[in-house]
Amino acid sequence: MHTDLPLLEVKAIHKDYGDVKAVNGVSLRIPAGICYGLLGPNGAGKTTTIEMIEDILAVSAGEILYKGKPRNRRFREEIGIQFQNTELPQFLTVGETLRMFHGLYAKPAPLSEIIELCQLEELLKRDNRKISGGQKQRLLLALALLNGPELVFLDEPTTGMDPQARRHLWDIVKALKARGKTLILTTHYMDEAQELCDTIAVMDQGQILTQGSADELIQHYCPHLTLRLPLNTEIHLLKRATRHLPTDPEDAPDLHQWHTHKTHRSFKTHTLDSTLKALLAGHIDLSQLQVHTPTLEDVFLELTGRSLRE
Ligand code: ATP
Repeated sequence: MHTDLPLLEVKAIHKDYGDVKAVNGVSLRIPAGICYGLLGPNGAGKTTTIEMIEDILAVSAGEILYKGKPRNRRFREEIGIQFQNTELPQFLTVGETLRMFHGLYAKPAPLSEIIELCQLEELLKRDNRKISGGQKQRLLLALALLNGPELVFLDEPTTGMDPQARRHLWDIVKALKARGKTLILTTHYMDEAQELCDTIAVMDQGQILTQGSADELIQHYCPHLTLRLPLNTEIHLLKRATRHLPTDPEDAPDLHQWHTHKTHRSFKTHTLDSTLKALLAGHIDLSQLQVHTPTLEDVFLELTGRSLRE
């Protein structure tokens, strides 16, 4: 059956803590089967938003619908949540922890599949206190999957992990996507959002600034490549070489203009081919040329004037 009904519809939700507007009018439509990301810096309101959607926090105003209806017991049965911080039971092994929580569900998913998916086979006999941060996140994800949820929430799943452990977790998230699960994740890592999310909502100061796929957002907000050359490249030679490339003072005042920074000179272009030809024809030394392809970090900078990492 074809339906336009999203799995989740979030309508203008707010969360106020006294004068602090932690979430200030967030609306989202999340279709089934995608990975939806909330991307923003620390304090943007991501955790507050996801916890309201999870029905852990009450909204101050607004409405959230699951399959077109207010959330009910069925919602809680069909979701799995991996929290940002969870204490594991002490004095239990990984295997004992999984079996204990698995036993709490009336219709749990097969435990062996979850252990395999989350790559926990080697850790089953290990004490919970003796696992690494990345292994703990994999165990917490396994616990979130025990009831075979349709919709899985991941709140900053890889914060603090080393690159290898992050990639490991990304592979598991991709495997969940391949199984048709709907995923909602928060992150302040633009590469994580870019790698995993089909749709990304960029958040700052309690609001959604924009939404779309990584490609759409980059194409819309930062359609240009940036070339960088060292400071010792003569500016008058650069200007002369590129003087015939078109400028666009109305829509893109930066396009095809040279800028001098503390460490380098930069030039934005959407036609790499003709720019390189012009520089070569002008006998510019390109041995130290760097080409920067825009990322979601640039989108955030364009939207807020600040870096995601600030
Ligand atoms: P982080 O990545 O650091 O977790 P976040 O984007 O998830 O950040 P939130 O944790 O949702 O952001 O916080 C949003 C804002 O609301 C912050 O200014 C935070 O200090 C404030 N806030 C969150 N919870 C509370 C609370 N219980 N009481 C008062 N203020 C709160």
